[in-house]
Amino acid sequence: MIQAFAQKRAGERLEAIAIQEGAAPEGYDVDVDVVSCSVCHSDVHLLDGDWGDVARPLVPGHEIVGRVARAGDAAGLAIGAMVGIGWQCGSCGVCVPCRSQREHLCTGGKVRTCMGRQGGFATRVRADARFCFELPEPLDLASAAPLLCAGLTVFSPLERLGAKAGMRVGVVGIGGLGHLAVRFARALGAEVVAFDPDATKRDLVLGLGASELVDARGPLPAGAVDLLLVTTHASLAWDDWFRVLDLEGTLCLVGVPGAPLGFSADPLMDEQKKITGSVIGSPATMRRMLALAAAEGIAPIVEHMPLARANDAVDRVRSGAARMRVVLDVS
Ligand SMILES: [Zn+2]
Ligand SMILES: [Zn+2]
Repeated sequence: MIQAFAQKRAGERLEAIAIQEGAAPEGYDVDVDVVSCSVCHSDVHLLDGDWGDVARPLVPGHEIVGRVARAGDAAGLAIGAMVGIGWQCGSCGVCVPCRSQREHLCTGGKVRTCMGRQGGFATRVRADARFCFELPEPLDLASAAPLLCAGLTVFSPLERLGAKAGMRVGVVGIGGLGHLAVRFARALGAEVVAFDPDATKRDLVLGLGASELVDARGPLPAGAVDLLLVTTHASLAWDDWFRVLDLEGTLCLVGVPGAPLGFSADPLMDEQKKITGSVIGSPATMRRMLALAAAEGIAPIVEHMPLARANDAVDRVRSGAARMRVVLDVS
């Protein structure tokens, strides 16, 4: 039996349940024994019913580090291999995005690790081996889980939007996503300015490689960065944040604002500034992110809790108390 924590109705607490083991995996499918799984804000959104109705009982969890226990004959993963699994655990494989290394934009049927199927708050999870990523040495496995969603979510737009030496990157919100964004932007060579309302994070962000911490409540510096990565879920005064960008700079959303965006067209016209968003990243991007994290020693800052304290872990992430991510240790 698989031991898991599941929610029966939106807004309720998670309860320990036992799930019958499935038949042996076939094809690309693998069963992975979960070693650890961290709590992402997306898990909180699903649990709180923010994203509408999802299949319940809901077993959340999509930042998974585990060991391959059983594998289908096409999986190509060794039994015992240490792998990571993120938000996406399958795609159609035949649509145009899938055939051009943009599987995360699949139009034919994305499979999400903990939506409509059992996620990683459990002793075992099933996934498509093409979305299970061998964890390169010398990655610190105990803290690696948040890389699989948070790490990919920030690395993918930094890479796509050209973060490199000579570029100034602003990171808005220093939490689970933001602290990794600072590390990855620095590792790509950019200068980093961090924005957060909590001045007690100054030593932390300077230690991560940012050149300064600016109070996100303002006053905000004008023309300070070329790329602004917004990791918070808050609805910001967007016109103020466009002013933080230099000419032709780009504002990129990776958090999900709770309200429709409202801003003046002026910065988009007169200063040719751009706004875009980003969602996770492709398997190829995931591999480059993991390789860079291993090479540069990029380890998420995490708190550890046993799986039995899944509800406490979710509460800490929901309230913003977690520093910076909570990893549930499963086995
Ligand atoms: Zn996530
Ligand atoms: Zn597809």
